[in-house]
Formats: sequence, C-alpha cells, structure tokens
Amino acid sequence: MPHVVSNQPWGTVDIVLHEGRIFFQQDWFYEWQVRPPLAPWSTDEKRNLHNTMDRQIWGVWSNRIRIPVRLGPSPDARARDLVARCGGSVPINFDIHWVLRPGHYRVTAVKTHPGSADRSEVSFDTRTITFYSHDLAPSGAQNDAGRQTNNFRTAPHEFGHTINVDDEYMRGSPHLNDAQSIMNIGGRVRPRHLQLIVTTLNNMLPGCVFTAPAA
Ligand SMILES: [Zn+2]
Repeated sequence: MPHVVSNQPWGTVDIVLHEGRIFFQQDWFYEWQVRPPLAPWSTDEKRNLHNTMDRQIWGVWSNRIRIPVRLGPSPDARARDLVARCGGSVPINFDIHWVLRPGHYRVTAVKTHPGSADRSEVSFDTRTITFYSHDLAPSGAQNDAGRQTNNFRTAPHEFGHTINVDDEYMRGSPHLNDAQSIMNIGGRVRPRHLQLIVTTLNNMLPGCVFTAPAA
C-alpha cells in the first residue's frame, strides 16, 4: 500500500498516496480518576467518554480543511502522483485511538459532577491531557473581546493544544477577534491550526510543498 508515514511524539501523520488524502492519528493512554463520592468508572462510562471525545474531535477537525500542495524542486514519482491525484489540495482526517500501553498522550480522565469548576487542560511539552467528564457537555465560554457562547465544545479545543496550537480567546492573541475559531470560543478549524502537521508533511515527501496560510 502506498503510504508515507511519519511517527512523531505527538501523533502519526500518514499520507495515503493512492487516495490523495492524509490521516492524522493519536494514541491516548488513559488513567481513570474519580472525584469522591462518585462511583468508580464503569466500562460503559469509559467507552462513552472516549467515543464522545473521538466523535466531537472528528466532527470539528476532519474534512474541514484541505491542505494545499504543489510540486517543488526535483519531485519524485510519488510526489507527482499525489499532486496529480488530489487536484492541488489534500483533505485530512483526525482519529483518536484508545490504547492500553503508553502512547502519544497520557490522558487523566476525571469523573466529575455536572457544573464542576475544574477546567480540562493539555500540556504539549509533557504530552499529557487532563479531561474532566463534565466537559463532554457543551458549556458557556467568553473571550477577552467580550464575545460569548453557550455551545462551546471542550474536547475539540483541547485537541488543538495536542498539536501545539495556542489559545486565541485571550487579550494578546492576534486571533482574539476570530471568535468562531475552535481555539477561541467557536467551533471552526483554521488553516493556521495545522502548522505543525504541515511542517511535518514538508519533511515527508521530497518534491511536495504543503502550505498552511497564516490567516
Ligand atoms: Zn485552551
């Protein structure tokens, strides 16, 4: 199968040449914690947490953006094949796998009461995620420009941090006014959010130039 794969500490980038598409995959290794007096996680609850996060991330991130690609100097046959097949831009899908040994990210899933004040967070440097179960539900959010939403999805936002994208809802962000962005208080992926993946793609297939506009 004609794949070109790059395994990074933060995920796997897979170019499927004959389909003209890209898959990004992360392996998540869970640790399960509970806020007393809640009962321990049941298997169904664990599955529901993972599947809901995976579905929310897929819904926001997959097939939303095509990554422009063109031929650079000295393309090889694979590069020419990909560019010809995809018509100048490549779709990308995002998939989260629940694994039973350490993977790209260590996820501490904490069972909480609805309305708990705990806030989920990600460290790209240590590749850890802390996710509170109440964050599966849509929540209210406000940015420093005074914009508000009551339909904010935490898991797809936190996923952005796992590929090293910064928050955009705070004063000082050049994207504070883009309230619809998933890294702000909205639900849309922007090309700039794919910078790390694009940088990786540009080291995978000599003669292919991938771009993610800064806008
Ligand atoms: Zn954030």
